[in-house]
Amino acid sequence: MEITKKMIEKSNVLLKNNNLISNLNDIYSEIPSGKCNGCAKCCVESVHAFYVEFLNIYKYVQDKGMYETIMKRIEDHYFNELVVKQACPFLTTENTCMIYEVRPYVCRLFGHSTRQEHEANYQNILEQNLEADAYFFETYGVHLSQEVIYHKINFCQAFKAEKPISQNEKLNLIDRLFMLDTQFLMADILPEEMLNMSITNWFIYTKYSEDQAGEMRINQLLNGK
Ligand code: SF4
Repeated sequence: MEITKKMIEKSNVLLKNNNLISNLNDIYSEIPSGKCNGCAKCCVESVHAFYVEFLNIYKYVQDKGMYETIMKRIEDHYFNELVVKQACPFLTTENTCMIYEVRPYVCRLFGHSTRQEHEANYQNILEQNLEADAYFFETYGVHLSQEVIYHKINFCQAFKAEKPISQNEKLNLIDRLFMLDTQFLMADILPEEMLNMSITNWFIYTKYSEDQAGEMRINQLLNGK
């Protein structure tokens, strides 16, 4: 897996021809806003992003001349992710988001979950972390740190949504985002195995191949122990 310049160029043509950024913004506009106290306690991981969201963020970062700065932060985050729990690489020391205008859907939906949905999501993440830990132990004889495995974002009671959004409405928005990504699949631009990645993964693959990045991350895990 790698995101080449050619892939980005072809993607940009599809984005333009099919009006995909406008469709993306329409979906975002259906997510109710709300009042947040800016504690940034939810900005503690690299969140999932659809490919179309990555392209939108990538263009924003390029246009603002932030690519080198962002990549440095993303590399620091990605290569240490298995060793220490860190804040999202886009979070500044003033608790602001460097890509707030184009942040992914996950960030826009955070705060709109019920406590039950929040807990169910945590259980899913925990299961994935435990599976990853078992994999690294079996393959490399090393465990992930407890803080990486068990880190939990607490349920946010401070966020006040301007109006509620149901679970079905959220799932519908996510389906529509997925449908935007399928256009890149059908055009043979995006390989199927690249679906479902975090925002740091997308950026890392603009600079490193999957093998290179994986090897560097493992070395960091082995050296960090
Ligand atoms: S992208 Fe921005 S809003 Fe989303 S978790 Fe990172 S810092 Fe927070």
